[in-house]
Amino acid sequence: MGDVLPFKKKSLKEKHKGSSLCRDGFHKWKVVTKQQFDVKQGKLVTKSQCLRCGKTKTELL
Ligand SMILES: [Zn+2]
Repeated sequence: MGDVLPFKKKSLKEKHKGSSLCRDGFHKWKVVTKQQFDVKQGKLVTKSQCLRCGKTKTELL
């Protein structure tokens, strides 16, 4: 009675699709704040965030 459909695992693979570049270090940086004064470092920094994985970085000017 009734057919049992085989469970397909494909969500895991698709989750990681598109972020392979990030894993290789090729992030898609987008500048979030330009020349913001970082109190910690006492310098002007530019904050960027990766559009794909959400990783952030700060660059000293
Ligand atoms: Zn990334």
